Amino acid sequence: MVSRVIPVEAFDLVIFGGTGDLARRRIFPGLFRRFRAGQMPPNSRIVGAARRQLDRDGYRAFVTEALSEFVPESARPEDDVRTFLGCIEHLILDAASDSGWDALSGMLRDGVVRAFYFSVAPSLFGTLAERLRKHGCASPACRIVVEKPFGRDLESARELNRILRNHFDESQIYRIDHYLGKETVQNLMAVRFGNVLFEPLWHAQFVDHVQITVAESVGVDGRGSYYDKAGAMRDMIQNHLMQLLCLIAMEPPSRFDPDAVRDEKLKVIRAIERPAPRDIVRGRYVSAVPGESYLDQVENADSRTESFIALRLRISNWRWAGVPFYLRTGKRMAARHSEISIVFKTAPHSIFGQTLGQHRNVLAIRLQPNEGINLFVTIKEPGPGGMRLVDVPLDMTFAEALGRGVEDAPAAYERLIMDVIRGNQTLFMRGDEVEQAWAWTDPIIKDWRERDEHPDSYQVGTNGPEGAAALLHGDGRKWRDIDDTQDSA
Ligand code: NAP
Repeated sequence: MVSRVIPVEAFDLVIFGGTGDLARRRIFPGLFRRFRAGQMPPNSRIVGAARRQLDRDGYRAFVTEALSEFVPESARPEDDVRTFLGCIEHLILDAASDSGWDALSGMLRDGVVRAFYFSVAPSLFGTLAERLRKHGCASPACRIVVEKPFGRDLESARELNRILRNHFDESQIYRIDHYLGKETVQNLMAVRFGNVLFEPLWHAQFVDHVQITVAESVGVDGRGSYYDKAGAMRDMIQNHLMQLLCLIAMEPPSRFDPDAVRDEKLKVIRAIERPAPRDIVRGRYVSAVPGESYLDQVENADSRTESFIALRLRISNWRWAGVPFYLRTGKRMAARHSEISIVFKTAPHSIFGQTLGQHRNVLAIRLQPNEGINLFVTIKEPGPGGMRLVDVPLDMTFAEALGRGVEDAPAAYERLIMDVIRGNQTLFMRGDEVEQAWAWTDPIIKDWRERDEHPDSYQVGTNGPEGAAALLHGDGRKWRDIDDTQDSA
C-alpha cells in the first residue's frame, strides 16, 4: 500500500529565532522533508526573523548549512534544495523593539495561512504577541506556535497564558510538546481506540501496572545553566511524561477532535494523586572522570537539582483504582531509550503449573530508538521437549505491511508544524492542561525545597540510583530492561 501525502494550504510561516539552534536542527530540516514529500505547496514562504544582520543570500547559506548537517546527503538532491531555498526569506527584526516590524507586516500575504513560530527565549513571548498585534501582523485566523518551557511553575504559566490570551484566542495558540508528534504516540491512540480488542482490558481488572521510561544517555552538556534551574521534574515530567500518561489513562474521547481529546487528558491530570515522599526517588549522576559529574557541569556547586527522577503515581478514578503508574526519566543513563509499557496481569489460573513460570502480556510502545509497538504474547516454544512457554513480540507497527519504513514517516516537529498549518490543535497542549500540570508539580518541588532534600547519586551509564529499582522491587515488580526490551517481556 502506498501512503498518500495530502498537501496543506499555502502558508506564510514566520520563525522568530530563525537563526537559532532549534530552527537549524529541527524546523528547517523538518520543513524541507515535508517540501520533498509534496506536502508544502511551492508558493508557501518561510521567513526567518532575528536580529542577526544577514542578507537573503547569507540567510539561505545558513539554511543550506543546516540541511547539510541534519538531512542525509541521499535525501537532499541539489535541485530540491534550490527550489526549497526559493521559499525562504530573512528579516532583520528585534522582538524587543519596533525595529523590523513594519517590514514584516509589509511582507505578509492575504489569502494564505499565516503562522508565527516563537522559537526564542520565553521571556520574549509576551513582547512578540504584543508587537504582532500592534503592527497589524496578526490576522483573525493566524496561529502562534509556542516552544517549551511553558513557564517554570503555576504562577509563571498563568502569567504567560494571560499575556498570550490578551492578544490571541486559545484556538490560535499552539503549545508544542514534540512527544505528542511522534508517530507511535498517535499509533497508540489508533491501536487503543480503533480496535475492540484492547479497550475491554484497559483498566484495573486486567492491567497490573504501567511503566513510562524516558532515558537519555547524554548529560546536561552545554545546557547546564538552563537545566540546573529546571531539573528532571520540570524539564520532563511536568510536560512530556505527563502527556504520555494522559494518553494512556484517559477515557475514550467522543471524537478525535482537539477539545474532546484535551478535555479527557485534563481529567486525568486532575485525578493524579500527589505522591508521598516514599513514592519519589531523585538522583544525580556522578563519575570518577573529572568534569563528567553533574555538579562539574553546572555553576552552582551547592545545587539540589535532580538529573533523574522515578515516581510511583496513582490515578484516583474507577478505571485505574489500585494500578500504579511508574515513571522514570534521567540523563546519563545506560542508553537512549523511551518506552511506555502496559503490563497486564497474569492469567488467573495457570493450567501449566508453576514450573513453567508466570507470564504476562505486555504492550510496549517504543518512542525511541526504533519507534514501534509490540504486543508480547505467550506461546509454546517451538520444537520437541514438551510444553515450554516463551514470550514473543507481535509487531503492531506494520511498517512493512503499509509499504513504507518508519524512516519515511514525518518526524515529530514536521508533523506538528503541518498540523499548525492545517489548524488542528489535537496534538498541542491547551492552556488549562499546562496550568493543571504545574498545579500538580509545584507542591512536590516546594516540599523538596522545604526539606532541603539532596538527590541520591548514581553512576553515569546506569539506570539511576538504587532507590529507583527498590521502588518497584518493594511492590514485587521490576523495571523493564532499558536496552533489551525488543526481545523480552
Ligand atoms: P537559541 O539557539 O539561543 O536561538 C535564539 C534565537 O532567538 C536566535 O535566532 C536569536 O537570533 C533570536 N533572538 C534572540 N533575541 C532576539 C530578539 N530580541 N529579537 C529577535 N530575535 C531574537 O535558542 P534555541 O535553542 O533555538 O531555542 C529557541 C526556543 O526553543 C527556546 O524557547 C527553547 O527553550 C526552545 N527549545 C529549543 C530546543 C532545541 O533543541 N534547541 C528544544 C526544545 C525547545 P539573534 O541573536 O540573531 O537575534
